[in-house]
Amino acid sequence: MKTRTWIIILSSAVIVCAVLWMFILNSSSPSKIVGIYQDGSLVEKIDLNSVTDEREITLNGKFGKNIIFISHGHIEMKSAECPDKICVKHGALEIGGTPIVCLPNKVVIQFEETPYGADAKTGAAE
Ligand SMILES: [Zn+2]
Repeated sequence: MKTRTWIIILSSAVIVCAVLWMFILNSSSPSKIVGIYQDGSLVEKIDLNSVTDEREITLNGKFGKNIIFISHGHIEMKSAECPDKICVKHGALEIGGTPIVCLPNKVVIQFEETPYGADAKTGAAE
């Protein structure tokens, strides 16, 4: 009886370790898939970790242009012609941070898969 209990404890400990290890592996190389949305529809989906060359995406909205700057592992609203410039002030998009939103031009830049907040995904506007 006692040996059996130990086996159960040990095997569950091994399972817990395996799950933790998988979690650690996942979080050490989080995917950086970013979606750029305008007017609620997807403009482009980019894996920031696979970006090698710097580039810019220009979107035309109601209040003028939004220029999005992309480099390896990095995305930000470089400049915008919207009145509030909240999107530009936001700075770079960070894992676990808030999405870059330009309300006047209805532009949203957000992570498609966030390893730290999978629950937040369910409420995302599509
Ligand atoms: Zn803006």
